[in-house]
Amino acid sequence: MSSNILQKDWYEILGSDPSDSPLELRQNYQRLILLYHPDKQSADVPAGELEERAQRFIEVDQAWKILGNEETKREYDLQRREVALIQKWPVDAQVPLEDMNWIEADRSYTYSCRCGGEYVLPVEEAEENLFLVCCNTCSLSIEILNRS
Ligand SMILES: [Zn+2]
Repeated sequence: MSSNILQKDWYEILGSDPSDSPLELRQNYQRLILLYHPDKQSADVPAGELEERAQRFIEVDQAWKILGNEETKREYDLQRREVALIQKWPVDAQVPLEDMNWIEADRSYTYSCRCGGEYVLPVEEAEENLFLVCCNTCSLSIEILNRS
């Protein structure tokens, strides 16, 4: 997985919405790939416009490589969700996972927030590659580092 997967909004490129079904995504892809395909352009399209469509064709193809595959789509959605969280919840600190307290009874990692509240990271979320945890009291969050 390339690290620059988030450089573009692949849903927007496919004229789609994150809530669209795989079938809707596929239909949008097929419509756009035909619309922008270099071999399908009529002779009276100006050169500049042709270039732009060729560029769109490449982007639509890239978008489909990510969104048309269950695995990469899941990863992309997860990363989008993290970015959305970062925008919504200011990151207060970066905390190595090993600095958090393991609470066996709750199967969770916890860390004290400076507001007196707590950051709680259930073990399933730690395994699911979620690295942003929101305080259960205030609007701060922490970023978890060095997870294996
Ligand atoms: Zn707090």
